[in-house]
Amino acid sequence: MKYQRLRNEMVTKQIIARGISDPRVLSALRSVPRHLFVSEAMMDQAYGDFPLPIGEQQTISQPYIVAEMTQALQVTPEDRVLEIGTGSGYQAAILAQIAFRVYTVERIHSLYTRTRKLFDQLRYHNIVTRYSDGTTGWKEHSPFDAIIVTAGAPEIPAVLVNQLAIGGRMVIPVGDRHTQDLIKLFRDEQGVHQSSLGGCRFVKLIGEHGWRES
Ligand code: SAH
Repeated sequence: MKYQRLRNEMVTKQIIARGISDPRVLSALRSVPRHLFVSEAMMDQAYGDFPLPIGEQQTISQPYIVAEMTQALQVTPEDRVLEIGTGSGYQAAILAQIAFRVYTVERIHSLYTRTRKLFDQLRYHNIVTRYSDGTTGWKEHSPFDAIIVTAGAPEIPAVLVNQLAIGGRMVIPVGDRHTQDLIKLFRDEQGVHQSSLGGCRFVKLIGEHGWRES
């Protein structure tokens, strides 16, 4: 299989080579068919070391960023995870290999319907999708063991932090429109602890607790 070979190569050259070592993350990256999350015209580029357009001016993140964020979330098989920004569905599919259940929210209707269909086709039955503004979270299913925001926020929405379980982890890119800092949060009985994983660049998180639509 050509794509399996490209996937293994991606994991070795882009992911392990840059220090990602969590076996669950590596095995998820080896198994999810990333080429099915991009348009047919871009399938051959799907395993390259870069993000790709997915329509509606949105992008599927570079494989390394997906790996880094997933590893930072320290997901276990019992965990319930919330993702804001479904997009292509690739990040949710990676999380779904490891977690008990993934709840993912998308604000662009065409991406929501397309990706929902793909999850059905690929039989990712532990992914629950929703069409809505994810900056307010998903209260009915909270608290979450992990929350991942895959669009750049002007600041950390407090409402999301409040939906994090004690012991929960969150990763979110925070900054201006051009560059952001990838922030990791950890919540315990004492409060919320924050650290930076480095610079990154995401499309805008648009919504009530994100950027205003321009
Ligand atoms: N995780 C995605 C990345 C997609 S890009 C993937 O693996 O492909 C970021 C996505 O966040 C876009 O689809 C964008 O429409 C969505 N987004 C931006 N603001 C949002 C919000 N407030 N709620 C839900 N989705 C949002």
